[in-house]
Amino acid sequence: MQVISVANSDTSKLCTSQGRLIVLTGPSGVGKGTLMRLLLQRHPDLYYSVSATTRAPREGEIDGQHYHFISRAQFEKLVARGEFLEWAEFAGNYYGTPKTPVQNQVDAGKNVLLEIELEGARQVRKSFPQAFSIFILPPSIAELEKRIRGRGQDSPEAIAKRMHRAIEEISAADEFDLKIVNDDLEKALSAIESALFEESAITSNANPRTKHTHQVVCVNDSGFIQHHEQSVSS
Ligand code: 5GP
Repeated sequence: MQVISVANSDTSKLCTSQGRLIVLTGPSGVGKGTLMRLLLQRHPDLYYSVSATTRAPREGEIDGQHYHFISRAQFEKLVARGEFLEWAEFAGNYYGTPKTPVQNQVDAGKNVLLEIELEGARQVRKSFPQAFSIFILPPSIAELEKRIRGRGQDSPEAIAKRMHRAIEEISAADEFDLKIVNDDLEKALSAIESALFEESAITSNANPRTKHTHQVVCVNDSGFIQHHEQSVSS
């Protein structure tokens, strides 16, 4: 059995007078998009940061709503002008978070949700150490591949790139404040909501969430991800 990650849930990061930056990361196909859409539906006060990308729009994707679809030349110009909070190349395309709208919303006290990949999450952690980061894990690697193939949106080469990247990303899950296995959408959503919105739970000493916990994520020989929490005596 391979132990992937051990991380502490630093709930103190959620207690800030400014808006909070919430980073949602996880391998392609893990269901981040669905979780994010449900979160936004249930919490319309959250601000979703629309990224820019050089990827071609998929069927049904709307420019300015799902992404700002731009050319590589336009993207590189924006990088040179320092217009991105973070950016990364993923599976052959560029993706980036426009800086100004996010900064404005955070300054105005709004909670901002970024749905980004690992390299971007690392850059955000450097410039916004108070950001709260969540990593979404699939129930297993095999299930993830099934979901990516089942979407029918990517070529075999793109699927191979995404699977390769997925394994890299999963092995970095311990860098995140909270890890959630998305084997049941409703449960995963509730876990995110309680981390983000149960302020009283976060600040009360009586609540177990304020105790140091040690989250252990393992992949067994069949590629299944197991997740459990251990109390850590301090
Ligand atoms: P997709 O092509 O499936 O929409 O997205 C591919 C990956 O890019 C996903 O993991 C998604 O979270 C990530 N992504 C989307 N927008 C951004 C962004 O602005 N910055 C970074 N670093 N990654 C992004």
